[in-house]
Amino acid sequence: MSSSQILPIAITGEPILNRIAVKVSQFDASLIQLADDMLATMMAANGVGIAAGQVHSPLAMFVMASRPNERYPNAPVTEPRVIINPQILSYSTQTQAGIEGCLSIPDSRMSIVRSQQIDTRFQNLKGEFIEQSFSDFEARIFQHEFDHIKGITLIERLAQQQKQAYPA
Ligand SMILES: [Zn+2]
Repeated sequence: MSSSQILPIAITGEPILNRIAVKVSQFDASLIQLADDMLATMMAANGVGIAAGQVHSPLAMFVMASRPNERYPNAPVTEPRVIINPQILSYSTQTQAGIEGCLSIPDSRMSIVRSQQIDTRFQNLKGEFIEQSFSDFEARIFQHEFDHIKGITLIERLAQQQKQAYPA
């Protein structure tokens, strides 16, 4: 049995953070190991989610698990989830602004508008397809990590948000 290890986190400016992730097609032991390592890395950094690109893997996968910590003192407790090949099927028209950080952008917080609820489809570590709705804080994490899968960090998200608020 192998144990999980803490992986180095890519910091803003590293090209992997702006790459579109590659679809996962091999649901094997190395994928399980990567998920374990990502969860360990996220927990050690007081994160509530981390995408594979943030640990220098090209795969379309992220993990999320929320509990109150130094970075998010009011975070709810949610079970750890491994989300593979995510899709967002629909977004609620109701949106919420909230403060977000990113493990790849140390010591920076931004107010980001996200849909309050989303319907999603993804695969688990066995490759099974799952359809699930998320709301509030988990919906926010999912949308943040889904952006990473598309090579979008908070920097690009904020720029896009400002462009919508103040069109040229
Ligand atoms: Zn992030």
